[in-house]
Amino acid sequence: MANFIPEDKISEIKNAADIVDVVSEAVLLKKAGKNHVGLCPFHSEKTPSFTVSPDKQIFHCFGCGTGGNVFSFLMKQEGLSFPEAVERLARRYGVDIQFRPLSQEQKKKRSERENLLNINRRAAEFYHQALVRNPAGRRARAYLEHRGISLKTINDFKLGFAFDG
Ligand code: ZN
Repeated sequence: MANFIPEDKISEIKNAADIVDVVSEAVLLKKAGKNHVGLCPFHSEKTPSFTVSPDKQIFHCFGCGTGGNVFSFLMKQEGLSFPEAVERLARRYGVDIQFRPLSQEQKKKRSERENLLNINRRAAEFYHQALVRNPAGRRARAYLEHRGISLKTINDFKLGFAFDG
C-alpha cells in the first residue's frame, strides 16, 4: 500500500512540512539551543528528554529511544499508517498529491483495517471504563494502587479490567 504515493511527492511533502510545527500540536515544546525539547508523548516522564531538531527534521527521545521523522511521529502519535500520515501532511501543507485510485481490493483492505481499529478502540475504552468507573473494578484499582501504579499511568496506558465471565 505504501508505494502508491510517488517517491518525489513524499520528498516534496517532507520538505514542505515542519516537524516542530507538527509535534507542537501534541507536545508542549521549549526551545533549547538549536533544538526544541518537551515531555515525551510515548513514555511517562517528569523531565523532558524528548528532543526535536528543526535542522535535521527529526525527533528523538533519550528516555525511551523512540525517534524518527515527521511521518513516523504522526504514525506513532495518531496511529496512522504511512500513506495516511503522508496524506495528512500533504493536505496540511497544500501539496497536491494525485493518489492513484484505490483498487476494490485495496478499498476493502482499508475499510477492514478501519473496522478493526474501531473495534479495538471501543473494547479498550470499555475495559478502561470498567477499571476506573465501575464499582466492580474497585478491587482491581486497589491492587494496582498496591503495586504503585498511579491513576495517571492507568489513564496514559488505558489500563483496563475484565469482569468475571
Ligand atoms: Zn520517550
